Amino acid sequence: MCRHLAYLGRPRSLQAVVLDPPHSLAVQAYAPRRQEHGTINVDGYGVGWYTPVRPEPVRYRRAQPVWADQSFASLAPTVESTCVLAAVRSATPGFPSEESGAAPFTHGRWLFSHNGVLADLRLARKALREDVAWVPDALAPVDSALLFGLAVARWEAGATLGEGLASATHDVAAVGGGRLNLLASDGHRIAGTTYGDTLFVHESADGVLLASEPCDDDPAWAPVPPHSLVEVDQHGVTISAL
Ligand code: GLN
Repeated sequence: MCRHLAYLGRPRSLQAVVLDPPHSLAVQAYAPRRQEHGTINVDGYGVGWYTPVRPEPVRYRRAQPVWADQSFASLAPTVESTCVLAAVRSATPGFPSEESGAAPFTHGRWLFSHNGVLADLRLARKALREDVAWVPDALAPVDSALLFGLAVARWEAGATLGEGLASATHDVAAVGGGRLNLLASDGHRIAGTTYGDTLFVHESADGVLLASEPCDDDPAWAPVPPHSLVEVDQHGVTISAL
């Protein structure tokens, strides 16, 4: 499965969030320590971040592995953000390894990532068809896009960030399920679910990180229990049962 992370807090460079830690997301692309499904994450990657200029995030994706992208390496130290969501991808067999399949997906002010696989995409698409917001990224050639479409439909109907993720997870769980580990942001908060894979929280004076696995050996990394929803805003971290 893929690895993903989200950061909310004082401005940090993309370099500091994605590249610098000893077991950063970039390192997790070729040497993940906690990955149980798949071995390496080389089928593209993406980084989304928010700026003061507009509510919609900037989204940068490539179909290649993160370490092979000199353009990202050159921009990462120069860009700072209070809110970042990034993912490295191990494409599920059957889905193409191309830029449009790499998270984060985005629509409006939202960013979204899915780590996992839908057990029965055909059944899920058939059953959930009417519930999905068919925004461009929800049409990407990958199972994760359906989850994104479900979350966007909920968010557009007024659900909170966390409610949208919980609802997308429940919807798919009801039609075959799968491994449904989600992350999302709207620029002011980040949220994640654990449903078949790990997620860790790291809180510091600077901010909060949610990540599939710890990016360093700081004992402050705490595992999120299975089948949980984690919601982070300026007031702190809330964990509830999914
Ligand atoms: N199923 C998604 C994809 O193909 C996510 C894969 C993963 O978590 N490894 O991209």
